[in-house]
Amino acid sequence: MKNDSVSLTIDGKPVQAPAGTTLLLAAKDNGIDIPTLCYHPELKPEGHCRLCVVEIGAAPSTRLVNSCTYPVEPGLVVQTASAKVLASRRMVLELLMAQAPAAEIIKQMAADLGVIETRFTKGDPAARCILCGQCVRTCREVAGVSAISMAFRTPKKRVATPFKEESEACIGCGSCVFICPTGTIAYTEKDGIRTVWGRKFELQPCAKCGNYIGPKAQLEHWAKLTGDPVESFYTCKDCR
Ligand code: SF4
Repeated sequence: MKNDSVSLTIDGKPVQAPAGTTLLLAAKDNGIDIPTLCYHPELKPEGHCRLCVVEIGAAPSTRLVNSCTYPVEPGLVVQTASAKVLASRRMVLELLMAQAPAAEIIKQMAADLGVIETRFTKGDPAARCILCGQCVRTCREVAGVSAISMAFRTPKKRVATPFKEESEACIGCGSCVFICPTGTIAYTEKDGIRTVWGRKFELQPCAKCGNYIGPKAQLEHWAKLTGDPVESFYTCKDCR
């Protein structure tokens, strides 16, 4: 065993994983897929959706933990699909089905585990948001902007721009839209205008091929970050 690797058992299989990695990634590296809705490799995991729970320890003292945040430990015994784990996942999916009845991905994940209906009271039939926070984290950690945040308290909690008005900070990059697992965030592009979070952004065409590169506001943001003139971003990556 290398000094920087940890030996543990996942689903009865002895595996080695880099010290400091999570159970989710150790399982993935060994071909074991654990479902999740709020994990993304570019973001710091926060364990919001609770779908990635796994059972750790030996009977009778086992417990469920979020595999996306729990680090590998030497000798740890992990079960990713025990009866306890599957019961927990089904319960989480039933809760999410009630919270976001229009989210197709949740219905699909639930059906994969044999859950067709939720026993909980459904909210707005058009609701898709599961409050996983990936959009907020992406805006903060990837776009570096923090244009959106969680607003209000449960049961009115939602992702919103400040005061539910057009966000001055938003650069229209669309990262929040693309990362959202349930397709919640409205986004359109038409006639050189991108609309997201209710704000319209003029798109910059490539100086060479004319294809749209991105919103002018985003290119200005990049120019500010790098100190390069904004015109240096007016050529798309295919024409550079
Ligand atoms: S589109 Fe706006 S809110 Fe969404 S990630 Fe980009 S800057 Fe943030």
